[in-house]
Amino acid sequence: MTGVTLNNVVKRYGDVQVIHGVNLEVKDGEFCVFVGPSGCGKSTLLRMVAGLEETTAGSIRIGSRDVTKADPSERGVAMVFQTYALYPHMTVAENMGFGLKMTGHPKAEIERKVTEASRILKLDDYLARKPKALSGGQRQRVAIGRAIVRGPEVFLFDEPLSNLDAELRVEMRVEIARLHREIGATMIYVTHDQVEAMTLADKIVVLRKGRVEQVGAPLDLYNDPDNKFVAGFIGSPAMNFVAGVVEGPGSVAAKGLVGSVATGVALTGAGSEVSVGLRPQHLRIEAGQTHRVEMTEKLGGVSFVHATAPSGEKLIIESHDQVGVKPGDMIAIGYDAKDAMYFAQDGMRLR
Ligand code: ADP
Ligand code: MG
Repeated sequence: MTGVTLNNVVKRYGDVQVIHGVNLEVKDGEFCVFVGPSGCGKSTLLRMVAGLEETTAGSIRIGSRDVTKADPSERGVAMVFQTYALYPHMTVAENMGFGLKMTGHPKAEIERKVTEASRILKLDDYLARKPKALSGGQRQRVAIGRAIVRGPEVFLFDEPLSNLDAELRVEMRVEIARLHREIGATMIYVTHDQVEAMTLADKIVVLRKGRVEQVGAPLDLYNDPDNKFVAGFIGSPAMNFVAGVVEGPGSVAAKGLVGSVATGVALTGAGSEVSVGLRPQHLRIEAGQTHRVEMTEKLGGVSFVHATAPSGEKLIIESHDQVGVKPGDMIAIGYDAKDAMYFAQDGMRLR
């Protein structure tokens, strides 16, 4: 088992720079998730670790080896892609063992490895089937099996569940978490889905436009984001942002909301503007007429109320009561300053 270290890694396609000096340490046996919006550079960075993309500048180490210039086959990694591209004419067992067969491994060894992988992936009963007789989730398991039989030091996953329907995604998420526990290998997993990142990761790397915004354990990113981007990206429904004005040392009024102003944050510059971040569960409906209810989602155990301020600012309130309000109603929205986060105009968190 082995960790992965990126040192000031840069990627350019011609004049276009897509990765801007990424530093990162993925520890031995860690489950690390790259998350960020589409186009932020997640796949590019993963493919650079795999050796499928050249690294323009900087270095990549796997364990104690510098692999920056190494061939993909020399890196000790195996990659699982979103599209699993199984050979349709081969059985599950043949698909899983094909790579080993091509590299001249003895038949008995291939069989042993395929049997072991199919046990881990619960594919034992399907080894003789062709891909067309499998569900999407089973096919993706075969693709993961292809990676397992190679016995890599590092597993690389690029959005492996994105082609599956929602229910299967949840099921496979549990399977991949179990796989990591059982195999214990270092895994780097790319997804645009922050829920997937939150549920799988030991460590999340939030990427935006080819730069690392923040690295941390899932709940550390949720509880203590460094900036407005991470605050808004991690958590579902997303954090609400309301314009705020500094009223005096440490005091901020969130415009249009009912709440205390003492923030406990060392803010100065009366009159300056900040952004007040409030998670949906930290807002409450109060008597008043400041916000218009646009929509309500009453899910039973939890309700989400979508409301709009006269300024057009949209807010989502989460309530664990089965709220009585309906679209068109006017409400006021309250909060406690202790629950709020404050962000400067450039998006940096004010602490
Ligand atoms: P993600 O996986 O986060 O959606 P990608 O890593 O695929 O993002 O892409 C990051 C950026 O690099 C995007 O802006 C994309 O257009 C650009 N890019 C990816 N591959 C190439 C390429 N071969 N040539 C030029 N630009 C590319
Ligand atoms: Mg991608």
